[in-house]
Amino acid sequence: MEIVPVPQLSDNYAYLLIDGETGDAAVVDCAEAAPVLDEVRRRGVRLVAVLATHHHFDHVGGNPDLLRALPGLRVHGSADDAPRIPGITHRVRDGDPVEVGRLRARVILIPAHTSGHVAYYFPTERAVFTGDTLFAGGCGRLFEGDAAQMMASLAKLAALPDDTRVYCGHEYTEKNLRFAATLEPGNRALRDKLAAVEELRRGGRPTVPSTIADEKATNPFLRTDSPELAASVRHRRPEVAANDRVALFAAVRQLKDRF
Ligand SMILES: [Zn+2]
Repeated sequence: MEIVPVPQLSDNYAYLLIDGETGDAAVVDCAEAAPVLDEVRRRGVRLVAVLATHHHFDHVGGNPDLLRALPGLRVHGSADDAPRIPGITHRVRDGDPVEVGRLRARVILIPAHTSGHVAYYFPTERAVFTGDTLFAGGCGRLFEGDAAQMMASLAKLAALPDDTRVYCGHEYTEKNLRFAATLEPGNRALRDKLAAVEELRRGGRPTVPSTIADEKATNPFLRTDSPELAASVRHRRPEVAANDRVALFAAVRQLKDRF
């Protein structure tokens, strides 16, 4: 599977997924149809499906224009979010298979940013598309869920194989890791990753994909078991009990909201 990031709006990524054997392609999260259709034409592939992670306009706003250009397109989206996903034709639930040519994805329900948020996981390709739930170095805001729900959703993703590539919905990595470094200044892996990400951004290059291993080593929302992180949070929020992981996670989320 070839995976092509297609920049959208100011800092979104759509991803064009191409099955090299059949020439079939899918797009994950389309905010603007034109750049996606340009990429499809340029590569001479056949766009057959949209895989929507959640209902926010910067992830599905391009669907109507895509459908006008390609009326037979399949639009996959969460059954829980169906009325809010323009053009949806296939309602998916946790564990459902999704096919793109000969490629096979599995839907993983990961609510909290939105109540019906899903990821698309391609096990044989070692790739997962996480929308606005797991970012490189961060996680999405809790618009339609709470801290415990987000922790459970992130735990599902963290359980994927370490070498799984993580493709997220926004280019937020540099700011995320700067925030992470305020909580874990002693984390060597985090310092190294931040330096690499700063270098990429100086060159205007994308910081995606990350990997599950990288996220477990650097992402503060997957590191509530780090003594350094816990101490940093409790220094800023003394009311957080030492053994309350959910309260610790919620405090990290609130500190990030104000960063
Ligand atoms: Zn969103």
